[in-house]
Amino acid sequence: MKIDSNGNLILGTTVILITTLLLVAIIVFTTVNYIDNENIDSQENDNFKYIIDDYSNNIEVLGRDSLYDACEKVYHTYKLLDSEDQLKKNLNKKLSSKNEEFKEKYDADISSEVLSVESTDSPWKVLFKVKLNVKKNSNRFSKIIEKNVSIEGLKDPLPLAKLSVASGVFYQGDKLNYKNALTRYLKIRNLDSPLSYAFATTPLYIKKCPYDPYIHHGDRNGEVMKDCLKQGFFHESADGSCYLCRLEGKGKCPHYGMEVFIQPHTPLVNDSISCSDHVVFSDHYPGQKIDKLDIDSLILDSSHRKKYGLYYND
Ligand SMILES: [Zn+2]
Ligand SMILES: [Zn+2]
Repeated sequence: MKIDSNGNLILGTTVILITTLLLVAIIVFTTVNYIDNENIDSQENDNFKYIIDDYSNNIEVLGRDSLYDACEKVYHTYKLLDSEDQLKKNLNKKLSSKNEEFKEKYDADISSEVLSVESTDSPWKVLFKVKLNVKKNSNRFSKIIEKNVSIEGLKDPLPLAKLSVASGVFYQGDKLNYKNALTRYLKIRNLDSPLSYAFATTPLYIKKCPYDPYIHHGDRNGEVMKDCLKQGFFHESADGSCYLCRLEGKGKCPHYGMEVFIQPHTPLVNDSISCSDHVVFSDHYPGQKIDKLDIDSLILDSSHRKKYGLYYND
């Protein structure tokens, strides 16, 4: 009896001990397992976020490439009637091969559609909106991605969209020389002194003018203006056209746009139309040479003179 009760006691204690140990073991195991799963989940999440960020950055790069391609079309005598439509096509094509690339690289299922390509409050940016759906394992992402794409450094499509390559315009370093194309253009429209614009030049690439506010262009006796012309800077202008409308050959548009000077190189001193490109290609109002003795002088109207602070030698 004594041995039995002692044995029972030992057995009972052992069972309780083992049960406790088992419980502790289960609790520890579950906890460790839970933490592990958490780590895997957040790792997977990070990975998924990385894929989406990577893709969004690609939209910006490919949007820029799409603008470049559209402009090249214009430079190869292709008439763009609907630049937004062309840019949607360009970008959709690029994105669909990007989607295949992402499938291989990350095993992610991506579908995308360019919803719109728009002008913005800044003439230096074009807004792309892309509907994006991403699926990988249990993760899903669906959102409209908006990217502002810079147009700086791209060619200005307007001269070629207006006159076409057949007009005889030619490259002169980082400028475009109009040869006789503008003279013909002004003659056809019965505008004053078409010969003033023979061999006039315009910058090829879009560069934002750093001389802001623009009224300082007349500073240092016009030296600032001279540098602006030499560098070929573009300026913000409510009257000038935006990049998307330039692609369509519009000298003027309802969006906030830009203007650039078409620089004459002429000994003639007759009044002709003012040399801001929206005036040459659309508004057609007159201007006078700023410096009658300078063959490279701009031909400008009074409101542009005011805007750029140019009053010298008048
Ligand atoms: Zn400037
Ligand atoms: Zn526009």
